[in-house]
Amino acid sequence: MNPYHDYENYLKEYPTPDGRFGEYGGAYLPPELEVAFAEIDEAYETICHSAQFISELRRIRKDFQGRPTPIYHCERLSRQLGQCQIYVKREDLNHTGAHKLNHCMGEGLLAKYMGKKKLIAETGAGQHGVALATAAAYFGMECDIYMGEVDIAKQAPNVTRMKMLGARVIPVSTGLKTLKEAVDAAFEGYMKEYKTAIYCIGSALGPHPFPKIVRDFQLIVGQEAREQFVSMTGMLPDAVCACVGGGSNSIGMFLPFVADPVELIGVEPMGRGSKAGDHAATITYGSKGILHGFDSLLLQDEKGAPLPVYSIASGLDYPGVGPEHAFLHDSGRVHYTYVTDEEAVEAFFLLSRMEGIIPALESSHGLAGGIQYAKEHKTGSILVNLSGRGDKDVDYIEEHYGCGDEFLAKHHI
Ligand SMILES: *Cc1c(COP(=O)(O)O)cnc(C)c1O
Repeated sequence: MNPYHDYENYLKEYPTPDGRFGEYGGAYLPPELEVAFAEIDEAYETICHSAQFISELRRIRKDFQGRPTPIYHCERLSRQLGQCQIYVKREDLNHTGAHKLNHCMGEGLLAKYMGKKKLIAETGAGQHGVALATAAAYFGMECDIYMGEVDIAKQAPNVTRMKMLGARVIPVSTGLKTLKEAVDAAFEGYMKEYKTAIYCIGSALGPHPFPKIVRDFQLIVGQEAREQFVSMTGMLPDAVCACVGGGSNSIGMFLPFVADPVELIGVEPMGRGSKAGDHAATITYGSKGILHGFDSLLLQDEKGAPLPVYSIASGLDYPGVGPEHAFLHDSGRVHYTYVTDEEAVEAFFLLSRMEGIIPALESSHGLAGGIQYAKEHKTGSILVNLSGRGDKDVDYIEEHYGCGDEFLAKHHI
């Protein structure tokens, strides 16, 4: 039974004005930042309804990002697996190669309307940093990206890209020198200059209003895909599927289908297996808690400290998840499943070889979920959000898995 009957109503009802999706969401902030977040919330609620903002965002999406991105029927792949038809939404064709630019351009435009001069964020693998640095260059703004020293060493090409785009990459040397410390440092930096700068989060999470802002900017993905699918096939898909890290590409893809008779499937990274520290399957194994200023499900120890997480896809290894996903899980509207590193790599090779599209490892998780569905359902259709392209992953894959011949032999390819 679908508890939601109307997409527009759903968007109005969730989140509540204080940022709640049922028992999840909210904002737990240091007092110094309450003013800054209230300012962003108020500005967003006003500006996002202005005709000028809407038309400027539409123009950016078309002329700069290259939207709409197409959907594509994977005929060879579908035939290889059986009768169920697999379609992909090509977010990999978005400028900079992933869906992240959808919310970064929106956040940059909001900053411009608020009169801000600088964009501030943290980055883990560097994907969010590159997308935000792109937005900053477009709007002629300064950009400070906080990044752990360990990640800086591991992600040299993205560090170079950010610098070429004009961003300042600020190394963070505290603690484990990775994403968590970078988040803390970015917040500290933001606290010092919130009058002239704005903090731009990288996924549909964090304290209110960020889960809502990022979701709203990502809805374009599902809105386009729904229309395109209906005009291509004359029907709705039977299922829609996407990978879930923090939850931005999936929430944008899912919600325009929320009131439809369409199964929604979120795919989490099961990494090397189900032992703590070997995966980042937050909804599958998590429990209720607070991390980075909001209520959600998270992977935590008995004392409430976040557990270490792992995935072959660095964009998916976060111990929490956006609050709206925790909510949609509890309400039963979205079904959350998982795939392992191995299954994601197999999907990576299958799409490359059968369709000529090399997907990001994150997106390969969504695709592997779609492949599982296609194997279990002898008819029907599934639409997968291909959140990004795999150029960034090919060196790692080649070094650890070769070029796919072994994986593909299993399928007699
Ligand atoms: C960052 C990233 C993700 C994961 O982030 P979500 O917020 O869960 O969408 C997925 N795919 C790609 C290509 C990414 O860069």
